[in-house]
Amino acid sequence: MSKYDVVVIGGGPAGITLSKIVGKRLKVAVIRPEEHSMVYCAMPYAIEGLLEVEKTFKADSLVTDAGAELIRGLVTDVDVEKRQLRLNGGATISYDKLVIATGARPLIPQVPGRDLEGVTGFKTENDLKKVMDLLKTGTSKAVVVGAGAIGLELSLALIFQGIEVHLVDMEDFVLPNLLDPDMADELKEEIAGTGIDLHLRSKVVGLKGESRVEQVILDTGEIIRLGAADGRKGSKQGTLPGIVIFAAGMVPEISLFTDCGLVIGKEGIVVNDRMETNLPGVYAAGDCVQFVSGITKKVISGKLATNAVPMAKVLAFNLLGIPRTYPGFFNGVATKVGKFFVGGTGLTEKSAMECGYDTVCGYGKLTTQFPIMPDAKPVYMKLIADKKTHQLLGAQVVSGEPVSVRVDLFTFAIQKKTTIEELADLSYSAQPFQSFFPAANIIVTAAEDLLKKLQMEAGMKKSTAV
Ligand SMILES: Cc1cc2nc3c(=O)[nH]c(=O)nc-3n(C[C@H](O)[C@H](O)[C@H](O)COP(=O)(O)OP(=O)(O)OC[C@H]3O[C@@H](n4cnc5c(N)ncnc54)[C@H](O)[C@@H]3O)c2cc1C
Repeated sequence: MSKYDVVVIGGGPAGITLSKIVGKRLKVAVIRPEEHSMVYCAMPYAIEGLLEVEKTFKADSLVTDAGAELIRGLVTDVDVEKRQLRLNGGATISYDKLVIATGARPLIPQVPGRDLEGVTGFKTENDLKKVMDLLKTGTSKAVVVGAGAIGLELSLALIFQGIEVHLVDMEDFVLPNLLDPDMADELKEEIAGTGIDLHLRSKVVGLKGESRVEQVILDTGEIIRLGAADGRKGSKQGTLPGIVIFAAGMVPEISLFTDCGLVIGKEGIVVNDRMETNLPGVYAAGDCVQFVSGITKKVISGKLATNAVPMAKVLAFNLLGIPRTYPGFFNGVATKVGKFFVGGTGLTEKSAMECGYDTVCGYGKLTTQFPIMPDAKPVYMKLIADKKTHQLLGAQVVSGEPVSVRVDLFTFAIQKKTTIEELADLSYSAQPFQSFFPAANIIVTAAEDLLKKLQMEAGMKKSTAV
């Protein structure tokens, strides 16, 4: 029986990051079943044809060059008391410390017909191949469920391939975890222009077909028929019935651990800020973990690679005896919708209000370059702050240029509990190709708008008091 200092179940970003830090210092094995670890974020762009599928595969050397052993297999049993686990082939491995980095799997709701052929999630190499193979064999219609970043990126990629796409979401606007409705409005025209058939305020309640999915039933009574497309909007004339792809959220992959005494919450395995579970010698990091918001300290979902990697770093350093703590999820995210780059971080206005904050919002609308420059594009910004402390709680950006640097700046501002007064004092740079005129900066503009509202409100309160 092989024995390791640390065994990591899972070869995604959390498992890889951990092995890169501890691989040369401890005897480490990383176990994963799939042939390739994937660059998930790039999967829609393989469908679009922008990248070869192979470009979405991560090299195994990320793990092996770090000194860790990569074991291909599915863990079928874990005995946390004996500190042993078993692989699907029957091999047994023992360990001193166990790291659970089993990630999450797409949520496919318990609706009738969910097991029909042609229904899939969108996460693994197999899911990607399934979609790509179907496209090659003449499928010309797709229903994508979930208008979050993954659902929208995937829908746009399918449209690019000439597929007729129906995008379904329960909310009444797109990117509901990232934007508030007023900011999502800036994307309405762009989405309409792509030809995506949006079915908002709609929930999938059933899927019908003989062996293959043929109909998607919505709670509004609408039925989306997946027979051959009718060639409208320039889509392909297909022969095969279409596909249904669920991009409606992720559920933690914790099936191995439901009866071993591990404390598990709605969002995953409960850990402390050093990534320790309630069981001695058992740690967890990444999408399989339940953690709290860095702002509200309440449990929130944070199933992002940009959370999995820092969690794994914290754990790795602690395993090496270097104390580190994880501050919580801030959920900075960026995506691309047609010609717009979209990003957000922290709380939306809606989620902040649900958390009990009395909020105030400020807006900015400028251009990405000096407006006299030929390539100047619009940029819209929304800032959300707490009326009581004036601290920034969230920010949203829709822009003609990439936004992730802005999103990261706002995340940092939120992490550092920056107030709107401090943001309005931001010292900025300006250059014709890279910003608006020196006369204004969009962050300062949005912060000043917010301050003006606070001052007006304070003024009104004063005058009513008099
Ligand atoms: C299409 C798509 C686009 C995305 N885009 C972004 C983005 O732009 N930005 C961002 O930050 N995040 C993005 N994400 C989310 C991001 O990919 C995940 O948050 C991240 O992969 C989580 O890493 P992880 O290591 O915790 O889990 P995973 O990457 O899910 O890895 C889990 C690993 O555990 C293995 N495993 C599970 N059970 C067992 C078992 N019993 N035995 C052995 N191995 C097991 C799995 O096979 C897998 O190797 C995207 C996800 C998808 C699907």
